[in-house]
Amino acid sequence: MPLPTFRVELTENEQITPKVHKLVFKFVEPQHFTYIPGQFVSFILPHEGDKPLKRSYSIANLEQSPENTQYLEIVVAYVEGGKATEFFFNAKLGIEIDITGPFGLLYLPKELPKRVFLVGTGTGVAPYRCMLNQLKNYPDTEFHILFGAQYEEDMFYLDDFKHAAQQDNIFFHRCLSRQDPLPTDCDKGYVQNTLGNLQPNPETDLVYLCGNPNMVDDVFNLLKEKEFGVKQVKREKYVFSKY
Ligand SMILES: Cc1cc2nc3c(=O)[nH]c(=O)nc-3n(C[C@H](O)[C@H](O)[C@H](O)COP(=O)(O)OP(=O)(O)OC[C@H]3O[C@@H](n4cnc5c(N)ncnc54)[C@H](O)[C@@H]3O)c2cc1C
Repeated sequence: MPLPTFRVELTENEQITPKVHKLVFKFVEPQHFTYIPGQFVSFILPHEGDKPLKRSYSIANLEQSPENTQYLEIVVAYVEGGKATEFFFNAKLGIEIDITGPFGLLYLPKELPKRVFLVGTGTGVAPYRCMLNQLKNYPDTEFHILFGAQYEEDMFYLDDFKHAAQQDNIFFHRCLSRQDPLPTDCDKGYVQNTLGNLQPNPETDLVYLCGNPNMVDDVFNLLKEKEFGVKQVKREKYVFSKY
C-alpha cells in the first residue's frame, strides 16, 4: 500500500540557536494531519540524481490536540555538508514539499509507571515538547525531562519546558557539558550523569531516549547495567541516511 503523502507549504523558517532552525509548515493537500505526540515524519526533498532524498524529523508541535492539525513544526540541527541541512537552512517561505508519515513508536502509552524519564540531546527533545500537553493526563506519574547540550546557547523551547515544570509532577533538568561558568539551574556534564543521580530503577521507571545515536547507545548500556530490559527503554535514534 502506498504511504500516505501530504503536501506542505513552508510558512516560517527561523534560526533559534547558532545551529538549529525551526521550520513551520501548513498542510496544503490534504489540509489536515493526525499524529501521536512523539512520532516523526519523513520529508521527500528535491534532489539531483535518481534516488529520492528522504529525511526524517520529529514532530515538535505544541498543541492541545494532535487530531486534524493544520500545521507541522520541526527543528533541524546543522550538519556540515548535509544535503537536507543545506536545503532547510536556505528554504524560502512559500515552497511546497511532500512528506509521509506519521511514523514511530516513541509515544506515551495509556498506562505509565511511577516515574518516566524523557531524555534527549539537541533536537532530540522535539518529541518531548510535542508530548507536553499530554503529561497532565498522568497525575500519578513523575516526569523528568533531561535536555542535554554543550552550551546554554544551544538550547531552545526552554519556556515551554519550564512552563510545564510548574506542574508538581514534572521536573526539567538542563545538562550542559561545556558551559563555564554553569548557570545555577543547570547540571554540569552529560545527560548520563543527571540520569545516574536520579537513580533509575527498572521496578518503577520507564526511560525514553531520543537523538544522537551515540548518546542513545551510551545511556541504554548504562541502563542495562542497572537491569533495565528493552521494554523499559524506548529509543529513537537520529541515524543518518545512506543517500
Ligand atoms: C526517526 C528520525 C528522526 C529524526 N529527527 C530529527 C529531528 O527532529 N531534527 C534533526 O535535526 N534531525 C533529525 N533526524 C536526522 C535527520 O533525518 C538527518 O539525518 C539530518 O538532518 C542530517 O541530514 P543531512 O541531509 O543534512 O545530512 P547528510 O547529507 O545525510 O549527511 C552529510 C554528512 O554528515 C554525516 N552526518 C549526518 N548527520 C550527522 C549528525 N547528526 N552528526 C554528525 N554527522 C552527521 C553523514 O554521515 C554524512 O557524512 C532524524 C532522524 C531519524 C532517523
